[in-house]
Amino acid sequence: MRYFDASLPYFRGNLHLHTTDSDGRLSPEQAVSLYAAAGYDFVAVTDHWRRYQGPQRCGNMAVLPGIELDVFPDVAQTVHLVGFGVGEQIDALASRDLNAQGLIDAIRAGGGYAILAHPAWSLNTNALICGLQNLTAAEVFNSLSRTPWNGDRADSANLLDAASAHGVRLPFVASDDSHFYTGEQCGAFTVAQCDTPTAPAIAQALAQGRSYASQGPKFTRIELDQDELIIECSPVSKITVYSNLFYVADRCQSGTGLTGRRYRIRRTPTAETFVRCQITDAQGRHAWTSPLSV
Ligand SMILES: [Zn+2]
Ligand SMILES: [Zn+2]
Repeated sequence: MRYFDASLPYFRGNLHLHTTDSDGRLSPEQAVSLYAAAGYDFVAVTDHWRRYQGPQRCGNMAVLPGIELDVFPDVAQTVHLVGFGVGEQIDALASRDLNAQGLIDAIRAGGGYAILAHPAWSLNTNALICGLQNLTAAEVFNSLSRTPWNGDRADSANLLDAASAHGVRLPFVASDDSHFYTGEQCGAFTVAQCDTPTAPAIAQALAQGRSYASQGPKFTRIELDQDELIIECSPVSKITVYSNLFYVADRCQSGTGLTGRRYRIRRTPTAETFVRCQITDAQGRHAWTSPLSV
């Protein structure tokens, strides 16, 4: 099964950003123009508890209406949910009285798709993540969730691996969560393989693994045949394969200018149930495939 093939159409975007419609520092027009000028194919404008209602194109870039909702399920964690592709129904459906699942259901009933935002920053537990239904994706990386804007809890891969090992395999996105526009903007993006970057097409690409998340490095081929994961990519210095197994002897490959590898799926003595590949370039920037069931 070929999940991603750079010779076919794909689109690059940021599904999480804020503007002066909530606590962001740029107006919606300024924020959208900034991403269009940076060559993005799509963005979702996702202000806190406020649906984006501006133009849905900026030059060649699609602007998806979005929103971010939040709740405190207990004193030790919060849950932030980004909705993209939401319609005006969300205005009546989103309520501070809903729990996390209720907010996901509201985003879906409002015509949108729900992303679990920055689970590491939110201190989400495995039990909470595994208990949520109908999420379209989770942020494996959130540009704002690190210094100097926050502590360094940008990377949620560990948490999402634990969920994957328990059978909950959320597709990965990487997002900026732009607020200040002082260096977090245009730092992380999601690539989706589809014919046009509409919200349903992006959601379908995520669900089918035809996507990746990145801070810069590019996958050009992500393929799984019966016994092998086949990766091709831009030149990187590490290609690492993660799975439910705690130890695999040849999990890590490192060097200079690596542009791909083949990884044999383990069937015995303990079977791998999912694999995902993470590549790291010479500047330490990562790209992540979604977890793929094997
Ligand atoms: Zn948030
Ligand atoms: Zn946010």
